[in-house]
Amino acid sequence: MPELKLFNSLTREIEPFVPVHEGEARVYTCGPTVYNYPHVGNMRAYVFADILGRTLSYKGYDLTHIINITDVGHLTDDADEGEDKMEKMAAEKAQSIWDIAKHYTEAYWADVKALNIRQPAKWSVATDYIEEMIEFAKGIADKHCYEIGEGLYFDVTTIEDYALLAGPTKLDQIRENEEAYIRIDAVTGKRNAADFAIWRKTPPGEKRQMEWDSPWGKGAPGWHLECSVMGEKLLGFPFDIHTGGIDHREIHHPNEIAQNQAFCGCGGLSEATNSGAKMWMHNNFLVERSGKMSKSAGEFLRLQLLIDKGYHPLAYRMMCLQAHYRSELEFSWDGLDAALTRLKRILMAVERLADAKAEPIAEHPKFAPALAKFEEAMADDLNTPIALTALEDALAVKKVSPAIKRAVIEAMDAVLGFGLFDLSRAALRIRPSNAEIDEAKIEDALARRKAARAEKDFATSDAIRDELAAKGIEVMDGDPLGWEWKLG
Ligand code: AMP
Ligand code: ZN
Repeated sequence: MPELKLFNSLTREIEPFVPVHEGEARVYTCGPTVYNYPHVGNMRAYVFADILGRTLSYKGYDLTHIINITDVGHLTDDADEGEDKMEKMAAEKAQSIWDIAKHYTEAYWADVKALNIRQPAKWSVATDYIEEMIEFAKGIADKHCYEIGEGLYFDVTTIEDYALLAGPTKLDQIRENEEAYIRIDAVTGKRNAADFAIWRKTPPGEKRQMEWDSPWGKGAPGWHLECSVMGEKLLGFPFDIHTGGIDHREIHHPNEIAQNQAFCGCGGLSEATNSGAKMWMHNNFLVERSGKMSKSAGEFLRLQLLIDKGYHPLAYRMMCLQAHYRSELEFSWDGLDAALTRLKRILMAVERLADAKAEPIAEHPKFAPALAKFEEAMADDLNTPIALTALEDALAVKKVSPAIKRAVIEAMDAVLGFGLFDLSRAALRIRPSNAEIDEAKIEDALARRKAARAEKDFATSDAIRDELAAKGIEVMDGDPLGWEWKLG
């Protein structure tokens, strides 16, 4: 595979991946705040991180991937204003925060599994690291923080290049718009608009469900602290790559970087390693015009909604991979249909290799162009749209041993992550969750119909088709994709 090159948001350049520790790749991904179900947009962030991890594995790096679970500290506004998301949901549902966290973590894991996102080396849970967060905060408090009524705050002017990740002029913009930036319910006593909470004290006379003792009083850590601490504890500074959605480029990651610079006692960001990670990578958003992505909009676009409507979840993975991770992607049902159809076509070609046993050596001159195209695409900042066409090119190669073809397809699939050889035609059939179908009976009826047609008994054949139609099943004679029936 050619040299792997990735876009580093910090330098805004495509750079070769050079690991900090030879032969290793250490990656940290900002995980979900488990106060609600993830929407499909959130899951795009993890599909992207998964593709990155799979590509690093394909390149032969020994991957250590960490994804955290945020169960404390994330306020309704990323810039430390509003209410704690977890506490708000717990109050609304009249449940403990711990129960809320458990329920939504499990729901998130179900989506991870359904989308073939590989398990990271560790799911690090924020509340398991409170002691470490306090220690980290103690280490930076004297030089970089100040205490006010609300808690311990980080002074962003104490480090070099604050918010460089968000853009070279970000800090100027914040200063110019100080009043707009500090919103109505802003914390009083903050020195700079961009200063953020390291520790939020429980207000006097109140009791929070989640609170811990600290040198700054009872309270809870600020949201940004957890990722700095878990990144440092589990991967060591500097590690290789930090990922997240593009929104994190504005506040969460600049604040993480500021903490990391303070902790390391290092200088400005002309050295990317001073930021705690060598590379910062961000996926662009999945957008939806009517606002169904917003979790506050009642029914929102969860993966489960797609499944309930009958789509195989991997159709959504296909939809993600058809776009480059740095491009905005618009969600639409038509788009999802098209992605599903593409996956079906690929599966039909893969089915022909079902009985082949992959040969260990995948090299074959006929596959060289497709393999080269695939590897160049992935090495070029994870260009999955092109890599998918390379997979299709490989499937279309004629007059070769199925064993070699299977080996090539398996290798590509290990990066794209569809698990093609575990997928079945039946699984990809659109099947709304409320549809009552008995597949064995349908297959039986179709077999009887085929037999009747073979004997030119068209009356029986038509009768069977009508019988099925009455149950909402449409027989698809001559379907170009070879699908014999669908739910009408
Ligand atoms: P959260 O649970 O809100 O912290 O978000 C989880 C992840 O999803 C973060 O990496 C976000 O940046 C990312 N994210 C949020 N909304 C979208 C979206 N519409 N499309 C893609 N990624 C998103
Ligand atoms: Zn984070």
